[in-house]
Amino acid sequence: MPLFGLGTWKSKAGGALETSLRTAFECGYRHIDCASAYSNEDSVGKTFQEVFAEGNVTRDDIWVTSKLFNKDHARVRDACQQTLKDLQLEQLDLYLMHWPAVSGCEGPTLKPSIKETWQDMERLVDDGLVKSIGISNFSAKKTKDLLSYARIKPVANQVEVHPYHRNSTVVEFCQAQSINITAYSPLGSNDSEKMFGREGIPKILDNETVCRVAAELGWTPAQVLLRWSLQKGFATIPKSTNPQRIIENIEVLGLELPAEQFEKLNSLSFQIRMLDGNFTTGENTPYPTIRELWDDEVPEENLKRRNLVAA
Ligand code: NDP
Repeated sequence: MPLFGLGTWKSKAGGALETSLRTAFECGYRHIDCASAYSNEDSVGKTFQEVFAEGNVTRDDIWVTSKLFNKDHARVRDACQQTLKDLQLEQLDLYLMHWPAVSGCEGPTLKPSIKETWQDMERLVDDGLVKSIGISNFSAKKTKDLLSYARIKPVANQVEVHPYHRNSTVVEFCQAQSINITAYSPLGSNDSEKMFGREGIPKILDNETVCRVAAELGWTPAQVLLRWSLQKGFATIPKSTNPQRIIENIEVLGLELPAEQFEKLNSLSFQIRMLDGNFTTGENTPYPTIRELWDDEVPEENLKRRNLVAA
């Protein structure tokens, strides 16, 4: 898997997304992170076709990830085929279970179970629809449970990681199991702030240490964060639809964060999940609160925000 990719969540289908994909290919991105839930896979697919036809980038040059959404666990094959159709591809490089959650579940049990969904995903590999499969938003506990029965081991766990959410428990567990960590929201996902009501929460791009390190090195704060992500051993998938930033972001492949600055970023005391997954939780569902979703791998700040501990 190329370790540097372009995220596509919140990138509106149409011209801007198509231009950003073209810019990304031109400046060397070879990994595109997609999902049916982003409602733009048809636009991504249209650009793939155009770019392949022009001949500078071939299908074999790029790595395409997509994801099975929570409403589709009972129709894994159909959902994957729809994604292949939208992306105009014959095969995905990686298909992820987007969340360990199923829409509309009532009562304490997931239906289908994670095991049943995973087994359906394994059949996609057997049948050649996807080259590899993985998970996303899985805690260490949920990953360990899946490993107990997986015939095909997940190649990656895509989770939120940046210096404001080091997410150490699952990161260390997966790295010890040789499961790649793909860091999502590596810049702190500022453009999902309103969607999730995070106004007023500190932004990692404005963090004093991040900005000081950027000034010391003559980089941008985004470059500091992306280089940190790569040096932690993660694949990293920043989203941008701004051509200049798309170029600025991939420039980190040629940079190196000195040990001293790297360590400073490893120890920021403020920790918060920007995406706490609250939308997958509810009374009388398998995850009554975010504690059960993440198996307690939740920073105190998130618990306070959801009134699960005294503020
Ligand atoms: P990011 O952390 O990538 O942040 C995106 C925001 O940063 C946008 O507002 C973007 O604005 C801005 N930005 C990009 N580059 C720069 C820069 N150089 N300087 C300043 N601002 C910049 O957030 P995402 O949440 O989008 O995460 C990245 C990707 O990870 C997603 O797009 C998606 O593919 C994946 N993801 C997966 C999830 C999962 O559940 N598996 C959950 C969340 C994300 P602009 O576009 O204007 O440049």
